[in-house]
Amino acid sequence: MLDKRKHKAVVLLSGGLDSLLSAKIMQEEQGLEVLCLHFVSPFFGKPHLLEHWRAVHGLDIRPVDIGEEFAELLAARPLHGYGSVMNPCVDCKILMLRRAAGVMRETGACCIVTGEVLGQRPMSQRRDTLNIIRRDADLKGLLLRPLCARHLEPTRAEEDGLVDREKLYGFSGRSRKNQRELAARFGIEEIPSPAGGCKLTEQETARSCWAVLKYTTQARAADFYLVAAGRQLWHLPVEEGESALRLIVGRNEKDNAALQRLAGPRDLLFSTADLPGPTALGRFSGREWPAGAVNAAASLTASYSGRAVRRFQESGRKTAVLMRAGNEEVLLSAAPVRDTAPAFAEYTWNDAREDIRSSRTCGA
Ligand code: SF4
Repeated sequence: MLDKRKHKAVVLLSGGLDSLLSAKIMQEEQGLEVLCLHFVSPFFGKPHLLEHWRAVHGLDIRPVDIGEEFAELLAARPLHGYGSVMNPCVDCKILMLRRAAGVMRETGACCIVTGEVLGQRPMSQRRDTLNIIRRDADLKGLLLRPLCARHLEPTRAEEDGLVDREKLYGFSGRSRKNQRELAARFGIEEIPSPAGGCKLTEQETARSCWAVLKYTTQARAADFYLVAAGRQLWHLPVEEGESALRLIVGRNEKDNAALQRLAGPRDLLFSTADLPGPTALGRFSGREWPAGAVNAAASLTASYSGRAVRRFQESGRKTAVLMRAGNEEVLLSAAPVRDTAPAFAEYTWNDAREDIRSSRTCGA
């Protein structure tokens, strides 16, 4: 008799309910050993929750960092376009599945499992898109979607009797009723949100990510991690061949600490020296910052200190701003103002939207 416990399924666990249910189906109803992969990048992933999920859900979960590959995917412009904002869902899924295929081969697992539901999202979960994802990830017969499997062709694991097709589901459409009922049956009390909380679906984050993509030569994961660490200000190139200058100003203590932590060896760090105020990071972009831009960055840093601004308005007194460049420290005297020359400004969603629209869209 077939001992199913010897067989393993690799599950893509996003942190949303559908992938969690899929893992539980494979583990509890199909009796397979389950290895969950949780993908992490600057845009998605909750590695800080893995310990908690392991304990609460009794699952073996491995984090997989795909930050650099995802940055490359964005830089190369996704083949299948974007969803509602800047989310390249089809290419993203193909990328994750290719990584999961490596783990499947390494561990001898019989299939890869995802939580997709036919018709749940307008395009990325349409039948033809599901087929494109399977085809481009080169997983014919190996990709199992337990929540909607009854609507899809049987996989090899089903044909070989390792997975009982009769115990798989035929969910479709946008209703969450079936998933809620299944969650109750598995005794899942913490119901996560349907999606995993991808920042590329949020306009507020996407506008800054797009600016990074547009104005950074060979953007890396670290360039995108900085998006969450403060206000994003850009001085756009005036002359052809000049690179844009990016200044990130912390909005609170958490941002300030993140900027200190994320600063690269050639980045500039600014902080008010004689009054409370933010930390700001001037990103190295392949050339040294000109003196005018350094002074503008010091002024902008000081302009986000309420006390520095009040003192300047009352007495005209400038603010001491400490600039750190590697091991060197320089004390600058800056007027706390925002109308600097050269000018720095935020990249707006309207700016980004037009650019993104001109790329092909995939819908998500
Ligand atoms: S929303 Fe799309 S791009 Fe974001 S993680 Fe999900 S599949 Fe990937």
